[in-house]
Amino acid sequence: MNSSSLMEKIVALCKRRGFIFPGSEIYGGITGFWDYGPLGVELKNNIKKEWWKSMVYKRSDVVGIDAAIIMNPEVWAKSGHLGAFADPLVECKICHKRFRSDREEEKDKHLKEHLGKSDVWTEAKQFNLLTEVFLGVTEPKEKAYLRGEITQGVFVDFENVVSSSRIKIPFGIAQIGKAFRNEITPGNFTFRSREFEQMELEFFVKPQDQEGDKWFEYWKNERMKWYLSLGMKKESLRFRVHADKERAHYAKKAEDIEYNAPFGWSELEGIHHRGDWDLSAHKLTYKEEDGEEFTPWVIETSGGVDRSALFFLVDAYYEDDKRVVLKLHPKLAPVKVAVFPLLANKENLISLAKDVYKSLKENIDGMIMFDDRGNIGKRYYAQDEIGTPFCVTVDFQSLEDKAVTVRDRDTAKQERIKIENLYKYLLEKLS
Ligand code: ATP
Repeated sequence: MNSSSLMEKIVALCKRRGFIFPGSEIYGGITGFWDYGPLGVELKNNIKKEWWKSMVYKRSDVVGIDAAIIMNPEVWAKSGHLGAFADPLVECKICHKRFRSDREEEKDKHLKEHLGKSDVWTEAKQFNLLTEVFLGVTEPKEKAYLRGEITQGVFVDFENVVSSSRIKIPFGIAQIGKAFRNEITPGNFTFRSREFEQMELEFFVKPQDQEGDKWFEYWKNERMKWYLSLGMKKESLRFRVHADKERAHYAKKAEDIEYNAPFGWSELEGIHHRGDWDLSAHKLTYKEEDGEEFTPWVIETSGGVDRSALFFLVDAYYEDDKRVVLKLHPKLAPVKVAVFPLLANKENLISLAKDVYKSLKENIDGMIMFDDRGNIGKRYYAQDEIGTPFCVTVDFQSLEDKAVTVRDRDTAKQERIKIENLYKYLLEKLS
């Protein structure tokens, strides 16, 4: 299958089965905005849940926050985002790199990467990534910005978090939330959107090279392990070190975790050594118990929830001549278990299947589906296509032996399990 047809299939599947829809579609859509449907929201919530588990619950050196999307505009002046993004920029239509429009030498060099193709540049624009909003009801209204990254909320809350919790350096503050960027060329489905969600950790360490380097390496590896632990294929992922001139204005060191997408290797998550850029900019320091005061350095892991969702879907997509399967990790699968009565018109079968369905809904944390439409083969394929790891069928024998057939999505193997043991059996398999 070629890459563009894989992307087309994913986009079509997402729409058909309720993962992702174009935003405001009944009014012709709006470029760069997407809505998550009943299955998409489950996938996204599962990703966020797993991230929070691994970054906050499993650790004793990280706490979470949820900062406001709109902050005092001074934050963006101090963080450098108002200045750094105010140049006239052109963007390469092929790889979306942006260049100052007056930097002819850099642009010419870049064209060579695309074998001298011309017409790759968008028009030059006075480009500010931040989305403006106007607050208040009387003119002149107060100008503010939707946050362009969730990061600044952590710095703004730094003192409050330190004084209200018992954390000591080295420690981290984790956050998941929406960010907004006026991207010039949104595209590649949800990959480059104007509204998206980030999941970030800012980890504060003592301001020393060896501390910074040690934690930078540590977090790079932790984050890579997280994607692998949720089933992403090793060969689909790689690290890419940023060249000096490519690094953001705040970064001492930066590496991306890239995914081998159908449209080429693409950034999934950035690991940044931000030095003391932010805390210094906001004039914030940290005081040790012995009174020593300093400006911590910050190691950041900054991932995209939407890009994760997209690449987990791409990575899990499998088809053969019989069926399409999303081989999603059970922890990420939107529907955990589907329950079927073998036949739809037999009262006693339906009643037992409904009892099984209700008991699974009570005992398993996640979506359980009931389906009695069409024949059993079609129901299996419909569940395979949305990545449901297990299907449970209640048949005539179940009425006698109080057992059901459990079918595994990936192997299509079937096992007979006693109803009284069913939820424990499934819980074990789903974890
Ligand atoms: P790119 O180079 O692709 O524009 P970036 O380097 O500007 O990305 P960061 O500022 O490091 O991205 O943001 C951290 C993460 O937020 C990215 O790794 C990505 O997962 C996500 N992200 C950034 N911009 C977008 C966007 N426009 N749409 C969806 N996700 C995004």
